Amino acid sequence: MSCSVTGEFGRNVFNEVTMRECLPKNVFKSLKKTLDGEQPLDPITADVIANAMKDWAIAKGATHFCHWFQPMTGLTAEKHDAFISPRADGRTIMEFSGKELIRGEPDASSFPSGGLRATFEARGYTAWDCTSPVFVKEDGKNVTLYIPCAFCSYTGEALDKKTPLLRSMDALSKQAVRVLKALGDMTVTHVTATMGPEQEYFLVDQSFYAKRLDLLLTGRTLFGAKPPRGQELEDHYFGSLHERVASFMNELNNELWKLGVTAKTQHNEVAPAQYELAPVFSTINVAADHNQLTMDTLQKVARRHGFVCLLHEKPFAGVNGSGKHNNWSMSTDMGVNLLDPGETPHDNMVFLVMLCAVIRAVDKYARLLRASVANAGNEHRLGANEAPPAIVSVFLGEQLTDIFEQLAKGGAKNSKKGGQLKLGSLTLPPLPKDSTDRNRTSPFAFTGNKFEFRMVGSSQSISGPGFVLNTIVADALSEIADALEKAEDVKAAAQKVLQDIAVKHARIVYNGDNYTGEWVAEAAQRGLPNVRTTYESLRDVCSAEHVALFSKHGVLSREELEARTEVLFEGYSKQVNIEALTMLSIAKRQLLPACCEYSAKLGKAVTTVSDAGISAEPQKKLLKRVCDLIATMESRIEALEKATAKAAGTRGAEKHAQSYREDVLPAMVALRQTADELETIVDAKLWPLPTYAEMLFVR
Ligand code: ADP
Ligand code: MG
Repeated sequence: MSCSVTGEFGRNVFNEVTMRECLPKNVFKSLKKTLDGEQPLDPITADVIANAMKDWAIAKGATHFCHWFQPMTGLTAEKHDAFISPRADGRTIMEFSGKELIRGEPDASSFPSGGLRATFEARGYTAWDCTSPVFVKEDGKNVTLYIPCAFCSYTGEALDKKTPLLRSMDALSKQAVRVLKALGDMTVTHVTATMGPEQEYFLVDQSFYAKRLDLLLTGRTLFGAKPPRGQELEDHYFGSLHERVASFMNELNNELWKLGVTAKTQHNEVAPAQYELAPVFSTINVAADHNQLTMDTLQKVARRHGFVCLLHEKPFAGVNGSGKHNNWSMSTDMGVNLLDPGETPHDNMVFLVMLCAVIRAVDKYARLLRASVANAGNEHRLGANEAPPAIVSVFLGEQLTDIFEQLAKGGAKNSKKGGQLKLGSLTLPPLPKDSTDRNRTSPFAFTGNKFEFRMVGSSQSISGPGFVLNTIVADALSEIADALEKAEDVKAAAQKVLQDIAVKHARIVYNGDNYTGEWVAEAAQRGLPNVRTTYESLRDVCSAEHVALFSKHGVLSREELEARTEVLFEGYSKQVNIEALTMLSIAKRQLLPACCEYSAKLGKAVTTVSDAGISAEPQKKLLKRVCDLIATMESRIEALEKATAKAAGTRGAEKHAQSYREDVLPAMVALRQTADELETIVDAKLWPLPTYAEMLFVR
């Protein structure tokens, strides 16, 4: 498929250019004011906008519209309604009102609410988020107008991922503007959080996927012996694209561009069959919607190429898992990136204050940040020597660490320079060298003019970690604003703030290798939390300190925070429960029968060979080994059944999750170990599951 990219880009988006074309001038102006947060949308304007949207969508073949929202499952939800409106004379016309645009009322009783509402209290509302553009989506022959929405309960509590994100953006803007004003910037009116999420994923051939109940039901392999070759040759990372994959990427990009998603960077990742896609960054709210569209499109387009796209954090044991790298910064309404250090960061007061605010936030709320990426999938990644550990720390690099240390001593006087790099050949150009090297192992790394939060899981909505980061930085900025606003000498007060932070939070800065055991030990000495499991991580969320934080900034009430945490606990338990049950099904109905068949075959071989008067010792030895392993597998199946029953019967969200972690997961590991060993000796023709080698290397 070919396309003229600039012509196709945003073709299916009701963006500013389209709105300017379709809307009367005064309506457009009025909407602009709503978009800038200056005034709410009035009903008459809403009607005109809705009508223009409908005409535009119908011209693109749309028959339906939907409110598209993000319940606490972390996925998206939609319910389609046709534009049709029957008339008394038997005809029908196509209609879409302002009311239908602004508010929806899905029967929302089956979405997780964490106890915020009982199932019989079904009413929930969706509300148009006009800051994220409306678009038309083509799914097969179905064309629908999508309206990005927030989702709340009848009593106004947030039931989704978008509402707290929007609230946190307001909080961050408010506090950042206070600080900037106190530092003398009188023109700034608004600060937005920006986000560029890098998305990792796997592609496996559809035919293998169909034969693996574990992939089908849980998104990860629950069995599978280590293949003779994994990622040790380091040949896949940035390797040349296989043609089938390249064609997939080409179509993926075209689909995303039509939706206005700025898909930009693509490459092979570390593990075989693993890839990455990164867009150009945007406002965090739009980035979150676009990342959802990206995950959806990845899966749809993969199917067209005979692949299945796996978004799970750890689809395969023994090779790297997938994450999302959330690149984050703050930008003023004048387009100034507040984390841009400039040429001489040591005398860039705005930058230093923003940098120190982030550092204070990350150290003070490290547990919360860790909890924001806690789920069943990510538990297999964090701290497993491939992804950042479960310890939150900040990488600043040489230049900024030097400045940070100068600040601790009372003030920064100079900035180390990058210089030039000579490559030793006259034909190669001298390269300007960055002032700082990169660090791929850090969970929270400064990368030039933004921070990169690398602990996020590949399947996660970026809204959760996004609103946590916005809120904790807003909090640090609010303290700084308090200090600056009441100071007579603002410059001296700012110096003092920077010094205090540099002294107090030095422990969070770490530039070394985060994958080593030495760092784990050192972090413990520094008093940094190392929370390995999901249930331990989630139980910190509703502390008095965190409740105060979220309510102070109007992001979540205590009830909303508790409900959300409950949903996360339950999500974990449900996920592990499904995995355990899937394992049992595969083990009992596929693996054990195959092993029994093989043992019968060996038994026959023993008789046949002995009858021929030849020693059947080797066959007997093998038969004994297989039978021993079958016995072990049998008992481990029983143990897993017991553990699952125990966990299922445990009451209380935290205890429930704890039992899945401590009783069920180890039983799963034990069962897998025996099954994987059997896979290495049982006749390949009898083994019912596609192997790791097939799934990872056939493209
Ligand atoms: P790398 O793999 O080197 O980290 P990528 O190019 O894959 O880099 O991804 C970097 C991401 O950071 C991109 O999505 C990019 O748009 C984003 N980014 C760049 N500047 C900012 C910024 N100011 N705020 C947020 N994200 C940014
Ligand atoms: Mg990166």
